[in-house]
Amino acid sequence: MNARINGLLAELPEAEFEFFAPHLKLVSLTKGQTLFSQGDKPSHVYYPVGAIVSLMIDNQAGDSTESFMLGKSCMVGAATLGEPSFYRAQVRHSGLAYQLPVSVLLQAREHCPAYFRNAMNAVNRMVMQLTQAVFCSKRHGLEQQLIRWLLVNLDRGVSNTIEVTHQEISELLGFRREAITLNLKKMTERNEVCVHRGVLEVLDRQSLEARSCDCYWTAMQRQRPLEHQMALPALVPGIQMIERKLIGVTHDLILDGSNGSGGDGQCRATQSGQKQP
Ligand SMILES: [Zn+2]
Repeated sequence: MNARINGLLAELPEAEFEFFAPHLKLVSLTKGQTLFSQGDKPSHVYYPVGAIVSLMIDNQAGDSTESFMLGKSCMVGAATLGEPSFYRAQVRHSGLAYQLPVSVLLQAREHCPAYFRNAMNAVNRMVMQLTQAVFCSKRHGLEQQLIRWLLVNLDRGVSNTIEVTHQEISELLGFRREAITLNLKKMTERNEVCVHRGVLEVLDRQSLEARSCDCYWTAMQRQRPLEHQMALPALVPGIQMIERKLIGVTHDLILDGSNGSGGDGQCRATQSGQKQP
């Protein structure tokens, strides 16, 4: 495993990487594991090289919401150096990460100017993506938020599979589980995804990208491919808002008589993850 799979470490000049290298420890992170909690002063930061970590906000009633996902392009713990964390860092997708003591990172302030310049750029990207996610949650419907969440998951990780259940997506996005199930069922029928035993496999990323809202592209600072612009139906904000407000009632009616377990059938993907003809 190469630590430079992580984007922040990959951008470092050789001299600065050598400062970090002796202190980096490869660790295996397991889905559900809490790296540190709200209020903790973490002893280590993490550079994912396969794992995905969610920034979870917990309230006193015991509800939790995901505010952001961190993966191979950034680090976990950047906002906590010497300060209590305002979020709980929970592993979303099992995988590897490099662990670094916070004490070493604090020393690096004097020796590694390029690192902190890059880290500041990463924080700026994170703030922009968070801002765009807030816009999406207020203006766009469940389907588009779900597509954006799937695409961000793929970008953060190193594979096209996501360990997640319908219930977990429901809690993460703040929609009813039945509505999540219905949307995943539609995606399954389009051969865009396959959901089986808590693993969601994305089979056709291009199709999801074609139906995604502009929030994903704006947040990633990428231009939507021209062929997608031709294929995408015009968004009507008023209708999107009505859909969002009515979504619970609408899906109760549509799902009447369903056992709510749609999408948990056998995967139809081939071993290579390609869409079947
Ligand atoms: Zn959106």
